[in-house]
Amino acid sequence: MSKRIIIIGGGIIGLLSSRELLRRGHEVTLLEGGNLRGSASSGNAGVISPGHPPIPTPDVANRALKMMLDRRSPLYIPPRPSLSLLNWLLAFRKACRPSHYKMVSDVLDRFSMRSRELFDPLLKEIPSALEASGFWELVRTPEGLHHLVTERDRLEKAGFDVELKEGDDLHAEVGGWDQTVRAGLVHRLGIVARPDELLLHLAERMQAEGGTLRTASKVSRIHRDGQRFDSVELESSERIEGDTLLVTAGIWTTRFASDLDIRIPMQAAKGYHVMLEMERPPDCAAVLQEACVVVNPMGTHVRLAGTLELSGINDRMVRRRLDMLAEATRAYLSRIEQAKRVSEWNGLRPCTADGLPAIGQVPGLGNAFVATGHAMMGVTLGPGTAELVADCIDGRSIPDWARPMDIARYR
Ligand SMILES: Cc1cc2nc3c(=O)[nH]c(=O)nc-3n(C[C@H](O)[C@H](O)[C@H](O)COP(=O)(O)OP(=O)(O)OC[C@H]3O[C@@H](n4cnc5c(N)ncnc54)[C@H](O)[C@@H]3O)c2cc1C
Repeated sequence: MSKRIIIIGGGIIGLLSSRELLRRGHEVTLLEGGNLRGSASSGNAGVISPGHPPIPTPDVANRALKMMLDRRSPLYIPPRPSLSLLNWLLAFRKACRPSHYKMVSDVLDRFSMRSRELFDPLLKEIPSALEASGFWELVRTPEGLHHLVTERDRLEKAGFDVELKEGDDLHAEVGGWDQTVRAGLVHRLGIVARPDELLLHLAERMQAEGGTLRTASKVSRIHRDGQRFDSVELESSERIEGDTLLVTAGIWTTRFASDLDIRIPMQAAKGYHVMLEMERPPDCAAVLQEACVVVNPMGTHVRLAGTLELSGINDRMVRRRLDMLAEATRAYLSRIEQAKRVSEWNGLRPCTADGLPAIGQVPGLGNAFVATGHAMMGVTLGPGTAELVADCIDGRSIPDWARPMDIARYR
């Protein structure tokens, strides 16, 4: 039966969910507080990476204290008096246990594989924003190579198509990188995206398919009538009613905790990008493993993206961290010295403490749903999330394998 669905948040999760819900015959109104250009979904690195590991890993737990204190660490947690941060860190530490890491990786591997299948029609529809070219993970050090071997074994075991290349074999396949790069793991299922273009295309398509998109429409409150969602209220005081609510507001989903009566333990993990104009950009997208920087060539430009900083919900640009992107990349691509910086950006990843997204029906509110908490994998997991949350809205229960992602775990 067709429902009138209101979606809050026009990032990648909101737009892909709109697309799926419209395809299933529902009526969709998407309310976006901004203009589709500022969110994590438009400024991210643009690497769709099935099999990507979660943030909480046994290895991160061992390095956490050092990272908290080291301003130059790619993962940086500036000390600040915050009870929610402290609780999040305690839960995060628990999630780094090997048994939890294994469970989370298994779920994310399966989910990202399903999501990858669902990208196929999008690849045909939006060739200007999505290319199934695969991407590389590049390393310079013996420790980096050791990491690649471990990753290759893990990914092959889980059924992903990867291959390790070293020395001349590597440089014969990837053009433009310095000889200091000693090995690379190619992720053949990877897709390279132009995130800004992808969002704008999805926004255009959802309107062409009959959906309503309202930008500059920030929701200030969700109203309920007992155990049912009733309407949303915009900052302008306008009220909009619907049969069903879906909240996909990224990290800002936490602002609706009291309206929805559910607390999702999430922290904003700030990331940065710089856009460079460059004469001969490298000919493939790559994750620079030791530097924790992603390099995504886009025509005559290159996007360098990375760093993960738990400094709360704000858009403060910390120059030192922004500059770290180009500095760290130079060791793999010295020609970057001559490149001209044309723009800078930062955005917030919505990170749960347990490393899994939070998807499904809000406990105690029969007609309200949430899909958020995708951390470093929002684009990668986008189509799978849209399918899963649309299934929930259509009354299907979450399959057993995906149950660890059910938002009901925060009941
Ligand atoms: C530097 C960086 C690099 C990344 N690289 C990758 C990558 O290579 N691959 C990958 O898969 N992922 C990557 N990510 C992660 C990915 O970008 C996020 O997981 C994803 O964008 C989250 O999408 P979202 O739709 O949940 O949230 P968002 O993109 O944050 O969108 C939420 C939207 O909700 C709107 N909103 C908020 N509050 C309200 C309100 N009250 N009313 C109306 N609208 C509201 C916001 O304006 C925003 O547009 C990266 C992130 C960063 C920061």
